[in-house]
Amino acid sequence: MPTTSRRVQSFSESVIRRMSRVATKYNAINLAQGFPDFDPPPALRAAAAKAGQDGPHQYAVTWGAPRLRQALAKKASRTTGLPIDADAHLVVTVGSTEAMLAALLAVVDPGDRVLVFSPFYENYGADTILAGAVPVFVPLRPPTHAVDPVALRQAFAEHRPKALILCNPANPTGKVFTRAELTLIGDLAKEYDAFVLTDEVYEHIVYAPHRHLSLATLPGLWERTLTISSLSKTYAITGWRLGYVVAHEKWIGAIRAVHDFLTVGAAAPLQEAVIAGLELPDSYYDELAASYAAKRERFLGHLRAAGLKHLEPEGAYYVLVDVSEFGVDDDVAFAEWLAKEVGVAAVPGSSFYREPVHQYIRFHFAKRLETLDAAGSRLLTLREKAANWRKRAAAAG
Ligand code: GLN
Repeated sequence: MPTTSRRVQSFSESVIRRMSRVATKYNAINLAQGFPDFDPPPALRAAAAKAGQDGPHQYAVTWGAPRLRQALAKKASRTTGLPIDADAHLVVTVGSTEAMLAALLAVVDPGDRVLVFSPFYENYGADTILAGAVPVFVPLRPPTHAVDPVALRQAFAEHRPKALILCNPANPTGKVFTRAELTLIGDLAKEYDAFVLTDEVYEHIVYAPHRHLSLATLPGLWERTLTISSLSKTYAITGWRLGYVVAHEKWIGAIRAVHDFLTVGAAAPLQEAVIAGLELPDSYYDELAASYAAKRERFLGHLRAAGLKHLEPEGAYYVLVDVSEFGVDDDVAFAEWLAKEVGVAAVPGSSFYREPVHQYIRFHFAKRLETLDAAGSRLLTLREKAANWRKRAAAAG
C-alpha cells in the first residue's frame, strides 16, 4: 500500500483541539482550547446578519476585500504608528493560522532552520514542518520565561536560521516580551539576516503594568518583520476565521501568491461584516483589556483558593498551572483525568514544549465570569481528588 507523506508523519494532531473533544466527551468546562463563551459586540453581529442578507456572497479580492484592508490599515497604523498601506502591506487570511503558514511558505525553503522559542504555541512546530523547514527550539528561562541571550545568540550562530517565530503576548505562558528582549531578537535577526514572524493575536489583551510592543515598530525591523494577527481574539469571533499578515511591500506579493493558492480567500460576507469591529472607537480596546483583566483576577483567585501553583500571565488569556506537587509525570493522562473527574478541561503543558516538561497544564480564561466561577468551584475539589490520582498513578507505576 502507499503510505502517507513523511511530512505528515512528523507531527501529531493538535492536542489543543483534541482537548475540546475530550471536554465534550466528559461534559467538562472547556478551559482547554482558548475561545470565548460570550458573543461578539452587537455591531458585529448586526453586520454579519446584514452581510448574510445583502452579501457580498461571491469571492472577495483574493488578498482581502479592499474596504476591509482599508479599515485594517487605518487601525493598524493608529495602534502601531507605522504607515501601513491597504494595498502595499496587507493580506487578509483565513485566521492567523493560515497567516502564519502562508508567511512561512513565502520565506522559507526546504531544509531551512526556523528558531522557535519553547514553550511555544503548538501550531508553530507543524507549520514549520509543513513548510519543509526544520524547527529549532530555543528554551526560554523558567520560571519567568525570559529570553536567554546566550542560548539565543548560540542558536543563531549554530543554525543560521532563515526565520524566527515569536508569539507576543505569548501563548501558553502569558509572557509579554520586553523592549530589551525584542531589541536583542531584532539585533540578532539583522546580524544573521533572518526574518522574524511575530504572532501578535493577543496585542489588545495585556495586563498593566505590561505593555505590548509590536516588533515591527523597533528601529530597522519593519523591513524584515512579518506580523501575523487575527480578528478572532479582539472581537470574540474565533469561528469567523479572519486573520491577516502585515509586511513590507517587498514580501507581500509572495505571501499573497501562497495565500491565493492555499485558500483563494477568507469568507467574503464575514470580511464585510468585520469592518464594523474595526470601526469601533478606541474605548472598545480599553474595555476589552479591562474585561480580560477582571477575568484574569477572578480566575487566578480561584487558582489561589484551590491552592494551585501557577505563573502570572502578563498578557493573553492563558495560565500555566504547575501540577508537579500531585506527582504528575504524565500530564496528558492527568489532563484527561481532570476533565473526567474534576470536570474542567485543560491542555497538557507538554504539547507546548520540545523539552521533556510534564509539570504544567494550561487553562484559558476567555470565559464569562460565571463560567470561571463554576470552574473555580470544581477546581476546589482537585486537591482531594488528586489523592486518588496519586493512588492510581502508584498502582499503575
Ligand atoms: N489559540 C487558541 C489556543 O491556543 C485556539 C487555537 C486553535 O484551536 N485555533 O487554545
